Amino acid sequence: MSTTLDSFFQQALFLTSAAKLSQCPPDEGFEVAFAGRSNSGKSSAINALTFQNKLARTSKTPGRTQLINFFSLSESQRIVDLPGYGFAKVPEKLKIDWQKNMGEYLEKRDCLGGIVVVMDVRHPLKPFDIMMLEWSEHWNMPLHILLSKADKLKKGPANAALFKVQKEVKVYGDQVTAQLFSSTKNTGLEKAHAVLAEWLGYNTP
Ligand code: GDP
Repeated sequence: MSTTLDSFFQQALFLTSAAKLSQCPPDEGFEVAFAGRSNSGKSSAINALTFQNKLARTSKTPGRTQLINFFSLSESQRIVDLPGYGFAKVPEKLKIDWQKNMGEYLEKRDCLGGIVVVMDVRHPLKPFDIMMLEWSEHWNMPLHILLSKADKLKKGPANAALFKVQKEVKVYGDQVTAQLFSSTKNTGLEKAHAVLAEWLGYNTP
């Protein structure tokens, strides 16, 4: 860790969990939300970006997974971990609840500055991801794609996958961006931090 931006993200602390919009912290300041299919690497990405091991629970530890989890970076800046989507064993009723709660959060949360969608670089743009892209287009909400587990591919194929995704998401608008990311190798941290910092209204001290 070296820069002040790194230290800013390292400050992340668990704040609270919410099952629905009414339980979320006051709609003030700045928030960025992370979404992704279950097992996409979302928790690992949040942990890597905040230089912490256990801030966001990984798939291996069930518990908070169906809740919206809030992490504070400062009094007015938060990272939000949206429930992972697509658990095979989740009953239909819970899936419907998920869509309702997420839809409400994404639609009504004024402090939301942008949304990060984590996708496994080897399996991007699944139906859930497309749903998020359509939503981003509809509300003109900035959306940044982290193509996770980039370490699983060699450099050439990883760049080809990024290029393909960038080409395919063009139809959803200029507010959509994408990059390669690896939580295990810590690649792409700087780029992702820059995107988040902008959405969070972070001013370099
Ligand atoms: P989540 O369900 O989206 O929160 O996904 P997790 O963060 O729990 O990750 C799912 C699985 O992918 C775990 O076994 C992680 O160890 C693995 N994983 C996550 N990120 C990476 C990465 O950047 N590289 C590699 N090789 N594996 C990863």
